[in-house]
Amino acid sequence: MSGKIIRGMSRAIVQRFISCLISVLCIACGLHVFAQEELPRLMPDDLFRRNIGTEGQLDAQFPPHQIVDNIYYVGTQSLASFLITTDAGHILVNSDFERNVPTIRNSVEQLGFDFENIEIIIGSHEHGDHMEGDALAKELSGAKVIAVAEQVPGLAHMRPDGKPHPIDEVIIDGDQVRLGDEVLTAHLTPGHSDGCTSWELTVTDKGQDYKVVIICSVGVNPYYQLWNNPERPDIVNKYQTSYATLRALAADIPLGSHPSMYKLEEKYPLIGQSVNPFIDPEGYLYEIAINEQAMNLRLEEQRLAALQSE
Ligand SMILES: [Zn+2]
Repeated sequence: MSGKIIRGMSRAIVQRFISCLISVLCIACGLHVFAQEELPRLMPDDLFRRNIGTEGQLDAQFPPHQIVDNIYYVGTQSLASFLITTDAGHILVNSDFERNVPTIRNSVEQLGFDFENIEIIIGSHEHGDHMEGDALAKELSGAKVIAVAEQVPGLAHMRPDGKPHPIDEVIIDGDQVRLGDEVLTAHLTPGHSDGCTSWELTVTDKGQDYKVVIICSVGVNPYYQLWNNPERPDIVNKYQTSYATLRALAADIPLGSHPSMYKLEEKYPLIGQSVNPFIDPEGYLYEIAINEQAMNLRLEEQRLAALQSE
């Protein structure tokens, strides 16, 4: 055998060994890492379309429902809003576009809760489809708006009908929002936006505790520049840090700023069955993996395009 073949073989053996080691370590810590071949080849544009849906879906009410314990869905067909109820009032996560606020209020009321009992409004990230409605939601409920520091510059530009964006309290990564006996921890997961925040809380279902993570988004919008972005030179690094942050959180129940991020449409008909359909740790890891793959595909595309134009 020539030295070349032996070197080639030993490299293959080393690679095989490393990949086995990674699998064993991952199984040992209870994580599932998706191998490339398990993932459909979805590009950022595919995931963006999946998240946003049609124009009509942005505004159409999705049947309000209890997800688990004290968490309820009050959003539209493609924009997720969550009501977290406590004895001391409620927390609204995501006010969506301002035009969606009446729909959210209607959903809250259909579930038998008062919109006026919302005490705190927080959001996934500083894009209009998730937090533009803060001013109106605050006006209707009297709630206080809590923003994460990195969301503030983006929120300042959000002025539907010229209304200034209300911010009553600013918190930072790792801080907790508390109301009654509820505690939500803010995890900065930037990349999609600088203030992109995933919210973590614990719920109980049939006597067992589950970790819920409301994923901000690790999506790459179709127009995002990943390669050589002078305005956001650290954008790729931020995405990568966020995948790691989210994986470390290892949620049992994934939720997200768009319901397709946790396959609401598939899970909704299964509500009421013996196992809560929203318990889906694999789905949580899939959402991170599919977005990571799409980010890497787009990054490579942009890198090659830049090389060619040189
Ligand atoms: Zn966004």
